[in-house]
Amino acid sequence: MRISKEKCVGCANCVPVCTVGAIYIDEDGLANINADECVECHNCYRSLSFEHLRPSFTRTIRRLLKKISLRFQPDPDICPTEAIVPEDLEWPRIVRQAFSDPMVTHESTGVHGRGTEEVKTNDVSHRIKKGEVGLVVEFGRPGIGVFFREVQKATRVMATAGARFEQGNPVTKMMTNPATGDIQEDVLNEKVLSCIVEITTTIQDIVHTLTIIKEICKASETVVSIGVSTVCEEDGSEPLRDILTQQGYETGWAKLNLGLGRATNSSFTSRENL
Ligand code: SF4
Ligand code: SF4
Repeated sequence: MRISKEKCVGCANCVPVCTVGAIYIDEDGLANINADECVECHNCYRSLSFEHLRPSFTRTIRRLLKKISLRFQPDPDICPTEAIVPEDLEWPRIVRQAFSDPMVTHESTGVHGRGTEEVKTNDVSHRIKKGEVGLVVEFGRPGIGVFFREVQKATRVMATAGARFEQGNPVTKMMTNPATGDIQEDVLNEKVLSCIVEITTTIQDIVHTLTIIKEICKASETVVSIGVSTVCEEDGSEPLRDILTQQGYETGWAKLNLGLGRATNSSFTSRENL
């Protein structure tokens, strides 16, 4: 994203709408974007309406009114001179938009934004099987974001601990070696609003895996959120919940698949989902 210095009048309406605080008012009184911090989420472009006032006229009015302690300020949801300009992004910068802009489709997954279907379709995909635990480890959030170099520190530790990375996940697809957790070098300095690493482990290993992730959280420069999923026993009991409770975690229902899915892909068909 770019702000046109020719068009901007320095009203600062765009500053609070930036998801990571990358927009600031420069020494010249006009808005600017810290390109290293901008995650190309396009929120500034989408959340403000554009008016087409003439920049030179608007600046003059603002200057004159300022002299008599008055100000011309557009409504807070307006960029008065259409000064916010989306750019054509190339690799690797386009990775920022793919993970940060919910309105674009991620090429590697075919879904909007940074995620995958996770376990939402586990009824038919059986991504997580009985005895296994699926973990979604989310790095970054609006307000802070995350660089892939930071994510790589974590994926390397997870790989050392024997975690199995979900193949269809966008972060896994950018790995040069899922066995080591190495992410391709040209994206390491790209920042995104957030990204999700998906791993699978076993119920036996879950305590060890969570201990490692806790250590990753302590050393991380961003926020880390964790979700776990498992398959219930036939009687509805959940061994995982007991283990997590013993470890001091508060648990609750989040997303619940009832097993009512119907497999339309023959490779998913099995007795369990009929
Ligand atoms: S809203 Fe538009 S005119 Fe106002 S500071 Fe931002 S870019 Fe400049
Ligand atoms: S594209 Fe997103 S991150 Fe970049 S300046 Fe606009 S709101 Fe901020």
